[in-house]
Amino acid sequence: MAKLIDGKQISAQIKDELKEEVAQMKERGTQVCLAVILVGQDPASCVYVRNKKKACEYIGIRSISCELPEETTQEELLEKIREFNEDDSVDGILVQLPLPDHIQEDAVIEAISPQKDVDGFHPWSVGALCIGKPGFVSCTPAGIIQLLKRSGVDIEGKECVVVGRSNIVGKPMSLLLLRENGTVTICHSRTKNLKEICRRADILVCAIGKPKFFTKDYVKEGAVVIDVGIHRNAENKLCGDVDFAQVEPVASMITPVPGGVGPMTIAMLMSNCVESARRKEEKRSNS
Ligand code: NDP
Repeated sequence: MAKLIDGKQISAQIKDELKEEVAQMKERGTQVCLAVILVGQDPASCVYVRNKKKACEYIGIRSISCELPEETTQEELLEKIREFNEDDSVDGILVQLPLPDHIQEDAVIEAISPQKDVDGFHPWSVGALCIGKPGFVSCTPAGIIQLLKRSGVDIEGKECVVVGRSNIVGKPMSLLLLRENGTVTICHSRTKNLKEICRRADILVCAIGKPKFFTKDYVKEGAVVIDVGIHRNAENKLCGDVDFAQVEPVASMITPVPGGVGPMTIAMLMSNCVESARRKEEKRSNS
């Protein structure tokens, strides 16, 4: 039977550590602040934004909420971002995705100052990760590294297979595992012999967006399995990309869905925000 990697417990631990740090920063006169921009009223986005604000409240981060109507133009949105870029009291800027069709996502992501890019989506942030410079890392993969480390999984020298090569999960995940000295293989929809490659993995990260795709045939005995997928089935129950019932007896450790990778994303967003404020403090003390 695999040990469950408890994302709820680990994310709660991270939030408590951040809460303590934010309180200490307050004593030094620093108030950490996140600006959240939501365009339109997409129901899922509204829930995500509400959860992010709740996490800020718990940790003691000030959150500025900027809710813009659906018909906001790209130029108006970029102007709002410029305002937050220039506001020294704002440490992080988050634009909730997806945006309405008439707004170009890339232009918006690129308008956010890399110093405040707490989602880690700006090309500078991605480039910094690629060449090993400091920068913000996309929250979901950063959360997975925390799950592994805090569960005592040693990444160095391990065969790591990441299935999925999206900009927000698969690619940064692969770079982070490489940074931790794993031996990394990236798979995608054109990969041949996917099962065989997955069966080589000591650490298997499944991020393709297909419910219960990864059966026991994809998993080596004793592997650590990370399930990034989130799907809601006909009975309104959540499941991941991994067929949990089949894989759990084969793996040594596995993340459940829900309660695995999911809760880590917001915790890492908060962590990036605190990191941004920490860098600001350092800059001030050096000048
Ligand atoms: P994308 O749809 O952007 O990317 C999916 C990737 O999987 C692509 O690289 C695609 O390959 C690859 N892929 C698709 N089908 C197959 C297949 N049959 N075999 C091999 N590779 C395949 O998804 P995301 O990366 O954004 O998200 C992946 C999953 O993770 C989704 O279920 C999403 O909901 C979830 N998610 C969960 C988060 C959390 O907080 N827990 C956060 C973000 C995402 P190709 O490039 O060739 O098309």
